Formats: sequence, C-alpha cells, structure tokens
Amino acid sequence: MADQKCAFVAILGAPNVGKSTLLNQVIGNKISIVSPKVQTTRGKVRGIYTKDNTQLILVDTAGIFKPSRRLDRAMVSGAWTESNDADMRLVLIDAVKGIDKNTSIVIQNLDKSKQKAILVINKIDDVKTDKLALLGAECSKSPVWQDIFYISAKTGKGVSELMDYLTQKAPHAPWLFSDDEMTDMPDRLFAAEITREKLFMNLQDELPYHLTVETTSFKEADQSIRIEQNIIVERPAHRIIVLGRNGQMIKKIGQQSRIELTKQLGKKVHLFLFVKVRENWTEDPKQYKRWGLDFNA
Ligand code: GDP
Ligand code: MG
Repeated sequence: MADQKCAFVAILGAPNVGKSTLLNQVIGNKISIVSPKVQTTRGKVRGIYTKDNTQLILVDTAGIFKPSRRLDRAMVSGAWTESNDADMRLVLIDAVKGIDKNTSIVIQNLDKSKQKAILVINKIDDVKTDKLALLGAECSKSPVWQDIFYISAKTGKGVSELMDYLTQKAPHAPWLFSDDEMTDMPDRLFAAEITREKLFMNLQDELPYHLTVETTSFKEADQSIRIEQNIIVERPAHRIIVLGRNGQMIKKIGQQSRIELTKQLGKKVHLFLFVKVRENWTEDPKQYKRWGLDFNA
C-alpha cells in the first residue's frame, strides 16, 4: 500500500519507571515482563501496534543506569543502540521520583548525541496534580524534549493520546509486520521470560539477577504445549534456594509460570523445570546472543 506509515519507537528511561508496563498496556497483552525490582528487562522486546494505515514498532529496553557487570554493560549499551536506530524516542520518568540521577544520564546522553525525545511522565495515578505541574514546568526547560505527555501506564490514562501523537508523526514507510502480529519475540524466549518473571517475584535480593532461564524444548500439539526449561544459577547454594525446602519453591514457581503461560499462549501448558549450576553463565557469549545483546559492549 502506498500510504502505509511505519516507525520504530524506542522506550527509554531509568530502571523501574514503567517502560515494560507501558508496552504491555499499548499492546493490550503481556509481552514484556514486569516486576517491582529494577532491571527486569534484559534484551530488547518489541511490541507491534497497528492502527489504520500506521504501524508502530515499540521497543522496550533495559533501564539506563551506570553499569558495572558485563551483563549490565551489555544491557545499557543495547538500550542506546535501540535509541540510535529508532525514528522516535520516548523517555519515561516516574512522576513520584522526578528527574533522578539515572534520568539525568539519559538526558545528557541524548543531548550529547543530538537526539530529541518525547518526555513521558508516568505514574500520574500516584501523585497530586500540583506536584505534576511543578515537575512539568521543571522539565520543559530542557531543549531535548519535543513534547511532554502525562500518563499512567498502569491504568492506561493518557496512553491513547500518546499513541495518537506517535501515529500522526510516523513517517511514510511500508509496514514490517502483518497487522495481526503483536511481537516478534520467539515463543521459546517468551516462555523463558515468563518463568524468569516468577523467579523475580518469588526470590529475594540479588538472586534473580544471578540466574537465567532457557527453554530447551517447546513442543506444540493440538491441545497442549510441552515446555522444558533450565533455570541456570551461578552457585550450588543458589540452586538449593531456588529448589526450596522439599522442592516447595520450584513447585510454586512452576505452577505460577504454567498458569500464566497457559493464559498467554491460549493452550494447556505442561511445564518441566530443571535447576542447573553453571558458574560462568554471565561470561557465556551465547546467553547474550539470545537477547540480542553485544557481549563485548
Ligand atoms: P521498567 O523497569 O521501566 O520496565 O518498569 P516496569 O514496567 O517493570 O514497572 C516497575 C514498577 O512500576 C512495577 O511495579 C509496575 O507495576 C509499576 N508501575 C508501572 N507503571 C505504573 C503506573 O502508571 N502507576 C503506578 N502506580 N505504578 C506503575
Ligand atoms: Mg522493563
């Protein structure tokens, strides 16, 4: 079609500002995992939003912060690659926290690379209106912003106005996906991400950051799907915690993941989880490749 419009929209911001929640809200379906902990999202997750003649490919990114470990470095660098490649960028900030240190890094980097962005003040359901007005006034001073939107990714307030704006600004270009596709994430990776989310929800402190999940088998039949996954931890002591007393923890995680996968995939899921110790998995280039990250970032 001659009048098709298409744009890549990168969703950037500090950890925990609600980037993944926004993506899920827009797509109306869960495609990116969400948790109250920071740095849940590792690689890029793309959601496809198609309306009338316009297709927006929304790219959820890992939060931007000062990285130290290799995995963190790769995640942050990946987020900037997405920003460079995008036609439009959203920078989300948390209305409660305002412009914190991590958001300042984002703004400085955009400024340095002469990139413009749309400021999206999120979590407006959580603050008073007068505080919002102050924050808006403070932010409008920066030349980086093309526009400012106020939304609640959680309730959906303000989100359709934002989408209408992006739709209007999208350049004329052919669509890259068909109009019924929601994401380009492979089922195997999606299934692994859901289990990883449940691990994030059930395990304390740093442990979720030290593990990863890989789907080793994904077999779809008419009525059901059989999925096998390895939960990879760094130390034997971590394995013991993930299993829990009498295997109670892994059982709970498996149940939660199976229920969610059944809902999301629309078929009965049989899920088999195995906990494996692989001391150096964060030094394994293969793991980075799965998330589309650069091992040497
Ligand atoms: P990300 O790290 O930027 O991807 O943030 P997430 O989407 O994982 O969200 C981080 C936390 O903020 C989660 O606990 C979300 O439920 C919460 N959150 C996200 N959007 C909103 C919002 O609009 N309002 C409120 N009150 N909480 C939100
Ligand atoms: Mg996220």
